[in-house]
Amino acid sequence: MKMFAYDVATDVDDAVSRLVADPDSALLGGGTNLVDLMKLGAAQPSTLIDVTRLPLGEIDILTDGSLRVGAGVSNSDLAVHPVVRARYPVLSQAVLAGASGQLRNMATVGGNLFQRTRCVYFMDMSKPCNKRDPGSGCPAIEGEHRNLAILGASEHCVATHPSDMAVALTALDAVVDITGPRGSHKMPIGDLYRLPGDDPDLDTNIGHDEIVTGIEIPALPRGSVSTYRKVRDRASYAFALASVAAVINVEDGQVTEARIALGGVAHKPWRAITAEGDLLGRSVDHGAFREAIDLELRGARPLRDNGFKIPLVRNLVTETLTELAERRTEQ
Ligand SMILES: Cc1cc2nc3c(=O)[nH]c(=O)nc-3n(C[C@H](O)[C@H](O)[C@H](O)COP(=O)(O)OP(=O)(O)OC[C@H]3O[C@@H](n4cnc5c(N)ncnc54)[C@H](O)[C@@H]3O)c2cc1C
Ligand code: SF4
Repeated sequence: MKMFAYDVATDVDDAVSRLVADPDSALLGGGTNLVDLMKLGAAQPSTLIDVTRLPLGEIDILTDGSLRVGAGVSNSDLAVHPVVRARYPVLSQAVLAGASGQLRNMATVGGNLFQRTRCVYFMDMSKPCNKRDPGSGCPAIEGEHRNLAILGASEHCVATHPSDMAVALTALDAVVDITGPRGSHKMPIGDLYRLPGDDPDLDTNIGHDEIVTGIEIPALPRGSVSTYRKVRDRASYAFALASVAAVINVEDGQVTEARIALGGVAHKPWRAITAEGDLLGRSVDHGAFREAIDLELRGARPLRDNGFKIPLVRNLVTETLTELAERRTEQ
C-alpha cells in the first residue's frame, strides 16, 4: 500500500481548500470502499481528507416539504429514519438491500454515491482496465462480464454502477448539493453520473475539488407508492444482478405517475424514460407494464454471458409495477 497523509477537515471550506491544494488527495467517508481499493492498489491518494467530523450528519424536512439528508449521515441512520420509511420506502429498502449491517453503520451517504464499480478487473492490478488506466484495454468485454452492463456501455468499458441507494435516489429525482472553490451549486442526480463513452475513467460529473454536502429529495405526489426490488446471487452481502426502484400513481385505473430506475444494468443508475413515457395514461395492466419495459429493453446490447439480464429485468419490472399498482388501488 502506498504511503499517504491523513488530514481531518475542520469545515466544508477547509475540505475544499485541502482538495485544491493536493490534486491527488481523496475525501474519506466511512472508508468501506476507498480503503479497500487502497489496499488493492486500485486507488492511490497521496492524502486522505477525513470528512466524517463535518457537521453534515442531519436529516431535515425543508419548508417546501422536501427532505435534506447530510452527506455524513450513515447508511443505517438513513434507512431507519421515520420520515424516510414513511414517505420514501423505496429509499429505505434500497439502503437495507446493500452491504451488511456493520458496513451500513460505517458507510456515509456521500461515500455511497461515489463508491467505485466492482468489475473484477478494475480491482485486479495485474490486469489492464481502461477505467483505472485509460488506454490499457477492457478485458471484461471478452472475459468475466456476467454481472456487467447491458445498457449504455461503450467499446471502452462495460462496468456497472454498484450503489443501491443511488438507484432509489434517481427514481426520487433527488438533487445533490455540491461545494467547490467557486461556491455551492445543485445538480440533479440524473446529471451526476456518466456513461462510459470514450472516458470510462470518469464515473461522475463532479470535480476533484468539489465535495457533496447533502442531497435533497422532493416530496412525492400525493397517493404515489414506491418500492425497491433487487435480484442478486446471494440473499445478502451481494451487489445487484438487476434491481428496480419504482414510483407510481394510479387514478381511475390509469397510470398518472411512473418513475422507473434500474440498477445493475449500466454504468449509472438507468432511468427507464422510454418505459415511463409509454405508461403514462395507460390502463393498469400486467401486459401494459411488460410492453413498456420491453420498449426500454430494445436498447439493450448484452455481452456473451449477460443476456439473461434482459428477461430478468423484464420480469422484475413487470412484477414490481403490478404489485405496486395493486397496492395503490387497494388504498
Ligand atoms: C462487502 C461489501 C458489500 C457491499 N455491498 C453493497 C451493496 O450490495 N450495495 C451497495 O450499494 N453498496 C454495497 N457496498 C458498498 C458500501 O455501501 C460502500 O462501501 C459505502 O457506501 C461507501 O461509503 P463510505 O462512506 O465508506 O465511502 P468511502 O469508502 O469513504 O468513500 C467512497 C468514495 O466516496 C468519496 N466521498 C466520500 N465522501 C464524499 C463526499 N462527501 N463528497 C464527495 N465524495 C465523497 C471518497 O473520496 C471515495 O472516492 C458494499 C461494500 C462492501 C465492502
Ligand atoms: S468494464 Fe470498465 S472497469 Fe471493467 S475492465 Fe473494462 S474498463 Fe475496466
